[in-house]
Amino acid sequence: MKKKINKINNLLIQFFGIPKKNKKNPDPVDMLIGTILSQNTNDKNSYRAYQNLKQKYKTWDEVAKLTPSSIEKIIRVAGLGKQKAKAINNVLKGLKKKNGKIKLKFLDKKDDNIVIDKLTEFNGVGVKTASCVLLFSLNRNVCPVDTHVHRTLNRIGLVNTKTPDKTFNEIFGQIPAGTAHSFHTNLIRLGREICKPTKPNCIICPLEKYCNYDLKNFDKNVVHTKNDFMLLDNIS
Ligand code: SF4
Repeated sequence: MKKKINKINNLLIQFFGIPKKNKKNPDPVDMLIGTILSQNTNDKNSYRAYQNLKQKYKTWDEVAKLTPSSIEKIIRVAGLGKQKAKAINNVLKGLKKKNGKIKLKFLDKKDDNIVIDKLTEFNGVGVKTASCVLLFSLNRNVCPVDTHVHRTLNRIGLVNTKTPDKTFNEIFGQIPAGTAHSFHTNLIRLGREICKPTKPNCIICPLEKYCNYDLKNFDKNVVHTKNDFMLLDNIS
């Protein structure tokens, strides 16, 4: 599988380029909250919600003192406000209760599986959110799997799975060293811009020759819209 991932990664880099990366690894708590906000919405709206929180409150300790309904009002623009506010409140209060402070620096020395176990103990934090903390904050070679990564990897034929978490398990440990960030980010761009849920734009797809999908679409009228703003590369 490593060779195939390398091939896909190289083809995507030739097409989209090497994705921009945050100069400094963001704090893991910032990343955790940013990823919760990003669930089921576009990156621009979740970034606005993240900035609303950061601009209004200097520390996560201050946010931890708010009720879920107060958090909900501030993050409303990200959608699913009630659910996300509850998850944020739960994570912040949970960290304070368990560790006495709202910090995740101790994860630096833990192995990937332990980080996932520790983070998914919190209600509202799933494997995808935990793996975003691994990749973007802890600089691990792990590829988070959202709906785009799941759909594209199944269509290409790298995996044959029913859920994003199963796809994550299949590719976990199989990513060639140093490639997880570009592989993850460019697959999301592929899924947003070209390999959309309906009517994939296979005519312009850099993976067309390599992809096993039976229902390729070669309709010339599909529009290619660029979408390269990635929330998680803008968390700081
Ligand atoms: S060839 Fe088509 S189905 Fe396959 S990855 Fe590209 S856009 Fe998706």
